[in-house]
Amino acid sequence: MVVRIFIFIFGSCIGSFLNVCIHRIPKEKSIVSPGSFCPKCETSIKWYDNIPLLSYLFLRGRCRNCGGKISLRYPIVELITAAFFVVLYLELGFSIELLKYIFLFSLLTVVSFIDIEYHAIPVHLCFLGIIAGLFFSLEPTLRLLKSGVFDLGALPLYAAFKGLLFGFGFTYLFKFFGDIFIDFYLKLRKKESIEGERESLGLGDVDFMGMVGVFLGVKSVVLVFFIAPFLALGYSIFAIIFKKSHLIPYLPYLSLATVVTFFWRDRILSFIF
Ligand SMILES: [Zn+2]
Repeated sequence: MVVRIFIFIFGSCIGSFLNVCIHRIPKEKSIVSPGSFCPKCETSIKWYDNIPLLSYLFLRGRCRNCGGKISLRYPIVELITAAFFVVLYLELGFSIELLKYIFLFSLLTVVSFIDIEYHAIPVHLCFLGIIAGLFFSLEPTLRLLKSGVFDLGALPLYAAFKGLLFGFGFTYLFKFFGDIFIDFYLKLRKKESIEGERESLGLGDVDFMGMVGVFLGVKSVVLVFFIAPFLALGYSIFAIIFKKSHLIPYLPYLSLATVVTFFWRDRILSFIF
């Protein structure tokens, strides 16, 4: 129990750091310095007002200095990250796998919230994920080679590369035909764009799916690709009716689909077949 509490606290601290990333990366500011400050009055935040989850509660969501509202995103990201850390620990125990998936889930959290807040896809973060994923598959690959396994198909590094290419290719294929369809639709309706967009999927989505392939493999790419639209459906209908918009941030749904696939892949696959 003590270990879980410790991991929860550690996770919430990392969540606090992810909040900094979400706030600063789209603005191309350093994520290391300066320390945290209130975005409204720019006073630097004292350590005792910067305790994950608790400070938000004690301050009742307001800056101590200017009384400006602190975004609810801060405690939400801290809570999500802490919960991910504990659940992943229960699933994987202390291992390199745990580090690998903590990295993936942290990245999913950051790209999702950046998409929600800035409607931007941080492509270089997906590339960071791809490189990290390949790196994490090195260690188990070397371990297998050392134990005398030379079957290419069994090597994690090979699976990661296959997943990467498949993630890119599969998603790009859908983007290619989706774009042709949208072109056709726009010509038919004599419109220039749909709310400024002319693409079915962005290249950022393609990169994201490459990252999913590296971490989770070929089958998971297909699952994530087809689960995400179902998860997005509810909010899409809400956006069309109430916001009169067809555009929704899509990375949160791809991320959510990745989490669902990670935990329940075998059950979903055995349900389908
Ligand atoms: Zn302030």
